[in-house]
Amino acid sequence: MENTPAATSLENIFSSGKARISVIGAGTMGNGIAHVFAQHGFSVSLVDVNAAQLEKAVAVIGKNLDRQVSKAVITEEQKSIALKNISTSTSFAEGVQTADLIVEAATENESLKLSIFKQLDEAAPAGCILATNTSSISITKIAAATNRPGSVIGMHFMNPVPVMKLVEIINGYATTKTVTETIVALSHQLGKTPCVVNDYPGFIANRILMPMINEAIYSLYEGVAGVEEIDTVMKLGMAHPMGPLQLADFIGLDVCLSIMRVLHDGFGNPKYSPCPLLVNMVMAGKLGAKTGEGFYTYTPGSKELIVAKRP
Ligand code: NAD
Repeated sequence: MENTPAATSLENIFSSGKARISVIGAGTMGNGIAHVFAQHGFSVSLVDVNAAQLEKAVAVIGKNLDRQVSKAVITEEQKSIALKNISTSTSFAEGVQTADLIVEAATENESLKLSIFKQLDEAAPAGCILATNTSSISITKIAAATNRPGSVIGMHFMNPVPVMKLVEIINGYATTKTVTETIVALSHQLGKTPCVVNDYPGFIANRILMPMINEAIYSLYEGVAGVEEIDTVMKLGMAHPMGPLQLADFIGLDVCLSIMRVLHDGFGNPKYSPCPLLVNMVMAGKLGAKTGEGFYTYTPGSKELIVAKRP
């Protein structure tokens, strides 16, 4: 029988600030998630299979905390407390054995996540909540890889995590009310604004964002307008801080394509067909800022835009 945590004990652990958090995956999102928990007084164990990535993550967190000090968001003392709150490990067993909450932020790959959750279920204490930061993989499917589906939930932070206010909280089919309420309260403790949604393809954020990006790519593909015109219409006309084509370059065109495929497969509706131009660009290895070329070209290794490429 599933060992679901009792409401009062969970509430006490998290509201006391004494909850122990493990973050799996120390990449872009994992280091941001570890940063935010540590800055809010939680003890964080950051776990990655790659030791070099852990070293890099701690350096990035240090730099980002420095930026917060220079902007007077936190003090020098708060920075050093936050850094002391973080430990690192390359071992699941060691990194999660005392966790009250695990937030998984490893590479977006379904079979990898299913295997990670199976291992976490075995290694984590009974009653520990298992959250995933996945952008598009079904929470219900991930939960079914464990023996505690009621304690599995989506906790979808936005990039950059220390800056962005939203946490999209996704209820899987079996997620219990207590677990949802705990994660909502915890998100508030982190200074974030939680929004609870149900587990259907793309949740809310990517179900709305990705078709908009795909439509912008269709507009380019069909010759309705050029890159700069499309982005300028959305920036100046809709007050978007960045045009959809530049945003696609920043997210990564491979990531956009894979999320469109999740929507298309999940709903079976042709309105989610990825634009053939998006498919071609991914096949050509033009993945956006990370490869130096997408809809715009970039200084290698940075997001600094050089020029709009496509007419
Ligand atoms: P990333 O590639 O920057 O980092 C992934 C990390 O996972 C790497 O450090 C890798 O070494 C590690 N990893 C791989 N296999 C592992 C394993 N078995 N155990 C532990 N660590 C492992 O990826 P990211 O951009 O940080 O994305 C992480 C998750 O967050 C994905 O699910 C992604 O969909 C989601 N997400 C990303 C963004 C974004 O803007 N990058 C936004 C929201 C959600």
